[in-house]
Amino acid sequence: MGKTLMIRGLVPLLLLGLAVLATVRPSLAEDSADLILEHGVFYPVQPAGRVEGSLAVRGSRIVYLGPDAGAARFRGPKTQVIDLAGRTVTPGLIDAHSHLAGLGGALEQVDLTAAPTYGEIIRRVREAAAKVPKGTWVRGRGWDQNLWPEKDFPTHDALSAAVPDHPVWLTRVDGHAALVNAKAMEILQLGPEIQDPSGGRFLRDAEGRPTGVMVDNAMDVVGGRMPGASVQDRERELRSAARHCLELGLTTVTDMGVGPLDVAAYTNLLKANELPIRSALFLGDDEQWLSTWFKSGPRVDPESRLLIRGVKLYADGALGSRGAALLEPYSDDPDNLGLLVATGAHLEDVSRRAAQAMSDVAWVGCMEAMMPSFAMRWRSCTRVTWVCSSRKRASGLPAIAFSMASIATRLPRSPMAWMPTWHPASAARRETSSRWAPVATMRPRLSGSSL
Ligand SMILES: [Zn+2]
Repeated sequence: MGKTLMIRGLVPLLLLGLAVLATVRPSLAEDSADLILEHGVFYPVQPAGRVEGSLAVRGSRIVYLGPDAGAARFRGPKTQVIDLAGRTVTPGLIDAHSHLAGLGGALEQVDLTAAPTYGEIIRRVREAAAKVPKGTWVRGRGWDQNLWPEKDFPTHDALSAAVPDHPVWLTRVDGHAALVNAKAMEILQLGPEIQDPSGGRFLRDAEGRPTGVMVDNAMDVVGGRMPGASVQDRERELRSAARHCLELGLTTVTDMGVGPLDVAAYTNLLKANELPIRSALFLGDDEQWLSTWFKSGPRVDPESRLLIRGVKLYADGALGSRGAALLEPYSDDPDNLGLLVATGAHLEDVSRRAAQAMSDVAWVGCMEAMMPSFAMRWRSCTRVTWVCSSRKRASGLPAIAFSMASIATRLPRSPMAWMPTWHPASAARRETSSRWAPVATMRPRLSGSSL
């Protein structure tokens, strides 16, 4: 008999990676399973359904799924048996767009999500600051002024008064804006003389002094003056984030916009066998960084533990921080049309070179054919994630994926207008796209952007 374990605690999902459901095999001693999950509820994918009973695993394959009694033949002296006591098992979940280092950092940061008032934000930050020496950076993430009664962007004054001795950096819930206190403004040299960068802005009071809130590319201007993370810091963040993902049932993640530090940390974790999930990395849009990778091509891992397979591009900011580029001004901010953070020409250039880096003639031909359609359309997209996959689907066709968040909320009159012309659903919507102006004629109307 195998060892029987009883799982305790809240573990609703017991996730298995990709495995093949095979038919029941003969009851030979050498065919005993490595693992049996019994008394559970299972949701297989092929065929889809719900199965009550047991699941047996040998190596990386599922060899049995069915009633508990049927699993007995797979029990051997070395079989580990886990009593699920009615808990649910699903296949491992695959995330299509994540930022693992950010998640790891967030797990270490002050959680500001769902705070109903600015006062509550300040209370949480003050509590965290009290636990670390003066002068230590206190970072938080998740504030959303839309949840507060006044719904206005905060100013640093109340925060600075409550937390005067620790530099504070608080990232908005969407990652597209940040609030800092006076101590941080002093260290980061954030004063009235600071200029708004292309694709970003520092919010200011009536006298032109920064209020402590910065949006999109403005965060990069002063963020670059903060103490940077080491490879060890990044490894710690990725390790804790990966563990957190597993607890939630994610067995594969797609990490968007990674840089050299991330790739080094990921590689170290993989070598040390400390990467418990599969990761597909998409490189951040940095010319020097990308040109290195375009020379070497994608990193393909036969075991799919760590892949480098695409590039993440940004078209504009996010809706919640008023950085998303709109065709008409924000209803509550009549002078603001949002921020374009890249030109269509840049997006096209990087996409084309990424495709060429695949060393795949069919790929390049495909991209050439599609480019005019997208060049006309991505100016209207919230954000475009261009996926250049090095792997072809079973059909032999190149794999291309798009991630366009909140299109429907931003283009209520043409929710499908972003769609490429070759897509069957786009024809019916084509007439609605006649309102779009070329990027060039939109330029003068974009506040805070020199694009
Ligand atoms: Zn993202």
